Amino acid sequence: MSDELNNQPLWTGDYYNQGTGPNDIFDTLKEECGVFGVYGHSGAASLSYYGLHALQHRGEESCGICVSDHTEFHYHRGMGLVKEVFDKETMATLTGDISIGHVRYSTSGSSHLGNAQPLVFRYRAGELALATNGNIVNAPQIRRELEEMGSIFQTTSDTEVLAHLIARSSKPLVEAAKEAFRRIVGGFAFMIMTNEQLIVASDPNGLRPLTMGRLGDAYIFTSETCALETIGAEIVRDVKPGELLVLDQNGLHEDFYTEPQRKALCSMEYIYFARPDSDMNGANLHSARKRMGSMMARESFIDADLVTGVPDSSISAAIGYAEQTGIPYELGMIKNKYTGRTFIQPSQELREQGVKMKLSAVRRVVEGKRVVMIDDSIVRGTTSRRIVNMLRDAGAIEVHVRITSPPFKNPCFYGIDTPDRRDLIASSKTVEEIRQEINADSLAFLSREGLIEAVGGDNKDDYKGGMCMACFDNDYPTQTDFGGEEQFGCGC
Ligand code: SF4
Repeated sequence: MSDELNNQPLWTGDYYNQGTGPNDIFDTLKEECGVFGVYGHSGAASLSYYGLHALQHRGEESCGICVSDHTEFHYHRGMGLVKEVFDKETMATLTGDISIGHVRYSTSGSSHLGNAQPLVFRYRAGELALATNGNIVNAPQIRRELEEMGSIFQTTSDTEVLAHLIARSSKPLVEAAKEAFRRIVGGFAFMIMTNEQLIVASDPNGLRPLTMGRLGDAYIFTSETCALETIGAEIVRDVKPGELLVLDQNGLHEDFYTEPQRKALCSMEYIYFARPDSDMNGANLHSARKRMGSMMARESFIDADLVTGVPDSSISAAIGYAEQTGIPYELGMIKNKYTGRTFIQPSQELREQGVKMKLSAVRRVVEGKRVVMIDDSIVRGTTSRRIVNMLRDAGAIEVHVRITSPPFKNPCFYGIDTPDRRDLIASSKTVEEIRQEINADSLAFLSREGLIEAVGGDNKDDYKGGMCMACFDNDYPTQTDFGGEEQFGCGC
């Protein structure tokens, strides 16, 4: 190792190639978190292990599983990937047939074990474990009010805010949980566990995905259906907006804690976050992404020698673009899968080259060619510029960028870690200005209408296809102004 690298700090609290700070190499949006719950299976912990493994792309920072044997909790949490945090010995201690599990992506400054979920508490009625995916917009306001009333918080997670609301209530758990859910505003998929019950709830707009499955007599809940496939469970249905499900010895109780609002599932799940083998709102994501690529071709065709997609999320859309136009799809870029967790800070020189650590252009494929490069989004623009330049360095004679989402202009309040509005390139620049900034020969974004049509291709249940598109059109489905105390991004 060179002296230069030796002199770099080894650990700064953020994985340098995963964060969204201004010095990060990759400025893509970050997955939020994933949740997985089991009720009524003696192998609940192993199912959770495999389920969380399937949801690993939603959060690589920390993970945890809490299991109940109806007498006491057994739980384990750790920093790192599921396969690193759990070993055979640990798994053997996680006995019981009710469980909740979590994978977490941490926002800057909150990378420590204390925030790893499930969070476990002891309160007047016994043990309580909670896990969530999403963000509570009014969490800072509620937290301040609770602190003024004497509550002491141990974490920075929104999940603890809900735990305090429940613990302060004198009502039975289910009623206390309903009251707490009515108090919070945001996008969330919550799981609450005691030694007798599993409670699962979705926000009133269904912003974050949550699906129910069955494995024999057991009930399974997961952020994405790919985890059901992994454990051999069947998809039953999505948890509905505003719904609260209770599982106990008497079976499943279906209820609502509030009136459902307009369905607004996060459109970025379709575009980028979720695995292509998952289904959401009845649509398979690989198929939906192919339709986005096909729609993109119809909206902004450009003649070229080959189409390539930025791996992995844009490959489906690139195939759709190629099928629609007849331009061959080629593997113009390769992703290095082993850059996920690196602790050594790069030198400035390496930082400039940084994108090549994660992506490489296939020179023999792109050399001398006019390339259409499909990507899912442009956040700050820095990654797009690096990828375009990488293709040019490898010999591409033209690089035409096609983005399968509208311009990303507004921060997310519902669980996606986005930069401030001023750092979102599309919030202040025109398409032509962005094209110049990323050094592309041409640039086009998928229209809002095109996205709706592509996603709603086999399921269109209300306007916008039941999607939130606030980061594109500023139409947030909930209140977002809490007198300056509102919280955006991810609150897990
Ligand atoms: S604002 Fe954008 S990223 Fe956030 S939930 Fe809505 S569509 Fe998803």
